[in-house]
Amino acid sequence: MYGYHGKILKVDLTRRKIYQETFDEKFAKKYIGGVGFGFRWLYDTLPAKTDPLSPENKLIFATGPLCSISFLGSTGISVATKSPLTGLIADSDMRGRMGGALKATGYDALVLEGKSSESVYLQITEDSVDIVEAKDLWGKDIKETQEKILSKINDREAVVTSIGIAGENLVKYGNIASDLRNYAGRGGTGAVMGSKNLKAIVIRGKLRPRVADADKIRTLIKEVNHLIKTDGSCDTLSRYGTWNTTGPADFKGILPTKNFQKTTFEYIDKIDGDAMLNSISVGKRSCPGCAIGCRHVVKAEKPYSVFPDLEGPEYESVASLGPLLLNADPVVIAKANELCNLYGMDTISTGVIISYVMECVDRGVLAEDDLGFNLKWGEGEGILKTIEIIAHRQGIGDILAQGVKAASEKIGKGSENWAMHVKGLEVPMHDPRGKKGMGLAYATALKGADHESSMHDEAFEKENALPDLGLKEPMSRKQFDGKPFLVKTLQDYWGIMSDALPICKFPMIPPRPLTPARLVKLLNLVTGWNFTIEEFLQVGERTFNLGRLFDAREGISRSDDTLPRRFAEVLSEGGSAGENLDSDSLKTMLDEYYRLRGWDNEGRPYPETLKRLGLEVD
Ligand code: SF4
Repeated sequence: MYGYHGKILKVDLTRRKIYQETFDEKFAKKYIGGVGFGFRWLYDTLPAKTDPLSPENKLIFATGPLCSISFLGSTGISVATKSPLTGLIADSDMRGRMGGALKATGYDALVLEGKSSESVYLQITEDSVDIVEAKDLWGKDIKETQEKILSKINDREAVVTSIGIAGENLVKYGNIASDLRNYAGRGGTGAVMGSKNLKAIVIRGKLRPRVADADKIRTLIKEVNHLIKTDGSCDTLSRYGTWNTTGPADFKGILPTKNFQKTTFEYIDKIDGDAMLNSISVGKRSCPGCAIGCRHVVKAEKPYSVFPDLEGPEYESVASLGPLLLNADPVVIAKANELCNLYGMDTISTGVIISYVMECVDRGVLAEDDLGFNLKWGEGEGILKTIEIIAHRQGIGDILAQGVKAASEKIGKGSENWAMHVKGLEVPMHDPRGKKGMGLAYATALKGADHESSMHDEAFEKENALPDLGLKEPMSRKQFDGKPFLVKTLQDYWGIMSDALPICKFPMIPPRPLTPARLVKLLNLVTGWNFTIEEFLQVGERTFNLGRLFDAREGISRSDDTLPRRFAEVLSEGGSAGENLDSDSLKTMLDEYYRLRGWDNEGRPYPETLKRLGLEVD
């Protein structure tokens, strides 16, 4: 098999049992890798209602065939598990080197189960797999953990993937970090790793699986890189990173502000792309094999010191720790982002929870005594303190660590009305009232409100955005018509397949040059297969349906495919004034979406749909 070793490394931490299993080409063709492998194995091995933080839950790191090369972040990895935040299936893609490194040890995937009786880390090379005692690492942040391990093994090239104290403390939106700067951010993968008493995974390897046509791969990479260098949209991404989104989001009236009460920010000029470049930016970084380089290096000294080793805040973090909290200070954003990264906490969930608490204080549901400090809109010190008490689970931080849904149910007093989540996952930084497709994507995404499950409406306002996928007609971001087809297609293509290969999602967004045709060509050159675009899309559809079957088995149905009530309120100002997304409009989109998916009225795949997709399920 080109592009694969056909080997899965399995580690049972309870029994300290390390063993291998294999898969064949038929399986590889059916699920490709990454999220496809993860979802198949989770569906097959996790009984319904398994406690996500119990030893029975699995944590799956799965590579794909493109991990065999290094191109546009293809050395990343997919992390799949049952989410402690939602109780549903979750996949989080992590850029960086871990996927390439795992491939280089001779394995395509790592499946973890059980729970170690003491804190440990896992060390994987092509010759050995060891479970190593890690008492001295427990309680350390991401940076210290990485430094201690690298000094101990005396190999600066090793890839260290670890959790911080949030994961150790089972903060339900704790994340996993690799090489300090790449995160499996959403859904609580870090809490699952912490529940297994696994602090880190250290990987060193030199093996590479064979690829089918190395010369033609080089030619294709050269062609795409040339197009990237001459593409205006890639140039903007390269210059501003994802900060290119902040100003336009404000202008269009889709920038979540004051816990989604507003969608424009009075002080946008203090935190837009130029403001961030001029205040805290000290450089850029690239993922391996990427000619764009959109990642920020930031530094600050006053009033808070921020060191440049970790990942700077990208758009989601800027928005969730900035306008969402009415915070207009780039240094506070950078410091809050740094704390989240050091402790290993998802910045989107953290920002949404802080904004929920701020609104509770504003409305008199919580008082200073409940928190132990003052937390008013826009106050930097309060934002940073809230992050501390969540990560350490101190005082009310213990409740906030459970996610905004659980916290609001506990705090009550009507605060559920401003707890912004879908199925328990906090809403990302795109207000769907001004982009209706994103609303449908949030409502139907497998892991709850997920902005990476489908491309965003703005990319389809011009004609011929993705003609290979039948997306030719221009669509306003505000229109409802056509959005069910758009979302269904892009969930299968962009949401799933980028994580299956894996490859970075950004260069796939039109008009950028990584088109479906080029992506499928690359897959075929690596594997020696003859996939068509239709067959490629069907793998995405199959995987999405498998995820839906998992969620349905957990009790998810149509009534869960919904949005926070706040989105039914009509926006009164900004570029989306007059827009809302109420339950009637969502119902109309859902009816069409279910029809296109081949699902019944409750959102369950029809038997014919499963048969067409070759899904062997009960
Ligand atoms: S575009 Fe950005 S996130 Fe994507 S591979 Fe390049 S540097 Fe990484």
